[in-house]
Amino acid sequence: MSAEDFEQTGTGTATQNGNGKGSTQAAREALKGMPKAQTAHGADKSPVREDVDIKGRTLWLTHMPFGGSFMLAAAFRSIGLDARVVPSEDARVLELGGKYTSGDECYPQRIVIGDYLRLIEDENLDPKKTAFLLPTANGPCRFGQYFGLLRQVLDEQGLKDAIVLPITSADGYAGIGEQAGSLIRTAWRAVVIQDILLKLLLMTRPYEVNAGETDRVYMECLEVMAAVIERQGVTNKERLADAKAGLLRCKDKFAAIPVKKEDRPLIGVVGEIYCRLNTFANNEIIRHIEAQGGECWLAGVAEWVWYTNDEAFRRLREEKRRMSKDWLKNFLTARVMEKDEEALGEDFHDVFAHHREAHVHEVLEYSRPYLPREGSLGEMVLSTGGAIYLYHQGADGIVDISPFTCMNGIVTEAIYPRVSREHDNIPIRVFYFDGTASDLDRDVGIFLELAKTYKRRKKIARS
Ligand code: SF4
Repeated sequence: MSAEDFEQTGTGTATQNGNGKGSTQAAREALKGMPKAQTAHGADKSPVREDVDIKGRTLWLTHMPFGGSFMLAAAFRSIGLDARVVPSEDARVLELGGKYTSGDECYPQRIVIGDYLRLIEDENLDPKKTAFLLPTANGPCRFGQYFGLLRQVLDEQGLKDAIVLPITSADGYAGIGEQAGSLIRTAWRAVVIQDILLKLLLMTRPYEVNAGETDRVYMECLEVMAAVIERQGVTNKERLADAKAGLLRCKDKFAAIPVKKEDRPLIGVVGEIYCRLNTFANNEIIRHIEAQGGECWLAGVAEWVWYTNDEAFRRLREEKRRMSKDWLKNFLTARVMEKDEEALGEDFHDVFAHHREAHVHEVLEYSRPYLPREGSLGEMVLSTGGAIYLYHQGADGIVDISPFTCMNGIVTEAIYPRVSREHDNIPIRVFYFDGTASDLDRDVGIFLELAKTYKRRKKIARS
C-alpha cells in the first residue's frame, strides 16, 4: 500500500455512473496497478502478460480464510469488478491438484491449483471471461512459484485466454496501491473486519449452547459486512461509518448467542499463513480442539500485512534510505492503516479486553533471541514471536500449523523445545498437513491433556 492510496480519504471509491463507465474506469485503474509477478530465486523473466485486463471477466478467489476471501471479493466488487470466492474445497480439489503436482510442491499450491481446476470443470467457465487471483511473492519460499505453475497448467488445459492476476506483498503491496487507492484501502478494511469477525467466532463458538448457532451468526455477519464493503459510489469516510455501524450490529448478534460458562484451556494457534487459515488445508483442527474442550486464539490476516509493511521499513533502513520518498510513503501508509484499524476496532475494546492482538513489533521482539528478523523471514519469525506473546497472555498451549515439508514448520519445530524450556515448559507442538489422513483427534487429545496439565501449574494467569 502506498500513501497515495490514503490521500484519497474523502474522495471516495470510483463511482458507478449510469452507463457503467465509472466501474470500468476503476477496474482499469486497479489493473494498471497490478504488479508483474515476482518469481522466486531471482528468475529474470516475469510470466505475467503486460496487457493484463480483467474488465468484463469474473475474478475468482480461493479461501484464505473463507471469510477473508469473502470480504476481499467484496472489496474488488466495490470498484466494479465481478469477484467471487470458489466453493468449499473437497477431496476432488486434492485429486485435481495432485494431477499437476509431483509432491515436491507445497501443499497449499496443490489446493489452490485444484480449487481452480475443479471450478473450470464444474462451472464450464469461458476462459475469455475468467480471471484467477493469485497472491505471489519474491523470496526463498516456494510461494513465488505458484503463479508460474498455475499459468502452465492453464495453458496445458487449453485455457490460455484465462488470466491469472497476481498480487504481491513485495514493498507492502505498494505496486497495487499506487494506482488503485480506493481498492487497497477498502481491502485493508476488509482484512480488519475479517479478523474481528473471526475472533468473535472463535471466542464464542466453544461456549455456545445451541450447536451451530455461532457459525450461522458468523455467516450472517459476513453478509452484513460484505454488503457494506462492496458498495460503489461512497466516500472512504462514508464507508468507514457504515462499516462501524455494521460491526456494531455484528457485535450485538454475537452477544445474543446463549453461552455456557466453562473454564477451557486457551490454545494459541500460529503457523504458515495459508494452512493456518484455510480450514480445509488444516483438517479443521480448530474444531477438533474445540470439540475436545479447548478455545483457540488464532493469528489473523492483518499480522501479515503489518509484517510486510514493517519489512519495507527495514529494507529502507538497510539501504540507508531513511527519510526518502519511499520512507515517507510507507510511514504515511502505516499511519492511515493504524487509523482505520483503530476506528474499526474501537467498539470492541471491551469484548477483546482479554484477547488483545500483539503489535507486530512485540512479536518480532519476542522472536529476536531465537530468530532475529534480520536473519530470517516470514512466518517462522512471526510464529516464534507469536507463540511467546501468547504465552505471556496466559495461553495454555501453542499449536503451530504447517504444511508438510514447509521450511517454516521445520525451523520452528527445531526452535520450540528451547522456547518451551525458557517459558515454563508450555506445551508447543507443530501439526503438519499434506492432505493424507491422520488421527487428528488422537493427536489433539494428547496435546490438550498436556495443555490442561500446564494450565493447572502455570505461572502466568490468563490476561
Ligand atoms: S511458506 Fe511453506 S507452504 Fe507456504 S508457500 Fe512457502 S514453502 Fe509453501
